[in-house]
Amino acid sequence: MKKVRIHINEDLCKGCGICISLCPNKVFAKSEEISSKGVFLPVIIHGDKCIACRICEEHCPDLAIFIEAQDVEK
Ligand code: SF4
Ligand code: SF4
Repeated sequence: MKKVRIHINEDLCKGCGICISLCPNKVFAKSEEISSKGVFLPVIIHGDKCIACRICEEHCPDLAIFIEAQDVEK
């Protein structure tokens, strides 16, 4: 079992939505509010469903996502 933390660097994110589209478990949704940088950031709505596959991290064009995963005892 993994304990996962999802980090989104809001300064790097340009709101392209790739992470929202590619996540197999629909962990992200698009924010309904525009950020101070003028983009719709992804928000984590189902963080508990993240399986640490790192698809979002690997496909983010701006290196704005970092997945921190630790193996933990059940
Ligand atoms: S893929 Fe990266 S730049 Fe695009 S919305 Fe997600 S975090 Fe932001
Ligand atoms: S690591 Fe995988 S499951 Fe977790 S948010 Fe990213 S794409 Fe979704």
